[in-house]
Amino acid sequence: MPKAGKTIAVLGGGIGGVVAVHELSKRLMRRHKIVLIEKRKTHLYQPALLWSALGFQKTSDAQMPYDSFAKKRIEVINAEISHIDPENKIVKTSQGDIDFDSALIALGAEFNHEKIPGLKEFGNSFYTPEGAEKVYDAISNFSEKNIALVIPSLPFKCPAAPYEMVFLLDELLKRKKIRDNIVISFFTPELQPMPAAGSQVGKFISKFMEKKNIRYHPNHILRGARKSELIFDAGTYAYDLLIYVPPHQAPKAIRDCKLAGERGWIPVDQKTLRTNFPGIYAIGDCAEIPIAGGKFLPKAGVIAHGQAEIAAHNIILEMLSARDRESYHGFGSCFVETGWGNAAYFSGHFYHQPAPRVRLWNSNPVSYWIKHLFAKYWKWKWF
Ligand SMILES: Cc1cc2nc3c(=O)[nH]c(=O)nc-3n(C[C@H](O)[C@H](O)[C@H](O)COP(=O)(O)OP(=O)(O)OC[C@H]3O[C@@H](n4cnc5c(N)ncnc54)[C@H](O)[C@@H]3O)c2cc1C
Repeated sequence: MPKAGKTIAVLGGGIGGVVAVHELSKRLMRRHKIVLIEKRKTHLYQPALLWSALGFQKTSDAQMPYDSFAKKRIEVINAEISHIDPENKIVKTSQGDIDFDSALIALGAEFNHEKIPGLKEFGNSFYTPEGAEKVYDAISNFSEKNIALVIPSLPFKCPAAPYEMVFLLDELLKRKKIRDNIVISFFTPELQPMPAAGSQVGKFISKFMEKKNIRYHPNHILRGARKSELIFDAGTYAYDLLIYVPPHQAPKAIRDCKLAGERGWIPVDQKTLRTNFPGIYAIGDCAEIPIAGGKFLPKAGVIAHGQAEIAAHNIILEMLSARDRESYHGFGSCFVETGWGNAAYFSGHFYHQPAPRVRLWNSNPVSYWIKHLFAKYWKWKWF
């Protein structure tokens, strides 16, 4: 270990950042300083927003304060990052500048609701706690005919979440005995559901859509929303309730700095997860990794989690001037809730060539329970 104490800055206290700071604190000697910079006062466990949008739990259940981190030698700085200078190793924040020796960037994705005119004005999105509450209110009071769920742009995090949303919505409306009067339509620019997971998963999800009488409209590019009308390249559709996935972009602090690639996200080495700058790694939703077929590694918590462990180890190996590095192999998995206490599960290797190799387990109650118990485990394990 280097003799003098070093500062390792972890930017973002979401899924990737939380795993990374714990990994660092477990392995680094006391003389090194681990700093977590996060703009929110609480960690947000985003997968639970789906359940809040449907009224299964409160949004406050998905938010945990970072209080317990101090006793694990993790200094949490509650500040907004405005700029990252990777050459001079300085992070500019609302609480002042922070110098670092090594950094792990896990700032996630930012939403650009205004990208499509009318989306924010007329629709509701379950991708934020406030949005999830609005979706719940809108669904609870719904007494009309047409519900539209729209994915307006790519990429977006958790490729399964919008599909789970309509499956669970179908169940909720059936329980209320009003499903027969309601049309659920799903619009996406994708050519199939969850394209990065391959055609088997796509066909599986499509079959469920059909079985649940959800009208699936792939290859639909949204240009705008008006009151009660969606405007696509392919034509217009009437709706009464609009639920949407917000357009995603890289956080501004990343887009405006030298770490950003062509599309604003941070290009990293697919195995070591290092950026083009020594000592600086990026993981999770803010990183961009090309995979087979001109696609990119999906943005998902399970991937941020796996990458956080590898990148934290590699930061330490680089600090030690070791020659070896640990490799991230592109493993990802997903529980897709299909309704009525069931979930399908798939897992696979997204770096596999010439296409990701993904295995699918049919919808079953065990997968459903694993997904729900994991949310409880997450809270217990880190907070
Ligand atoms: C409804 C929904 C359901 C989902 N379900 C699943 C699921 O079932 N399985 C799964 O694997 N994934 C799921 N996901 C996706 C998953 O939550 C994300 O992919 C994951 O959180 C990404 O982790 P991350 O660490 O890269 O980013 P995040 O967890 O988004 O963390 C980024 C952190 O950086 C902070 N930050 C951003 N900008 C700044 C700044 N300028 N200054 C300071 N702090 C900043 C943010 O506040 C945030 O805490 C779901 C997401 C949603 C919205």
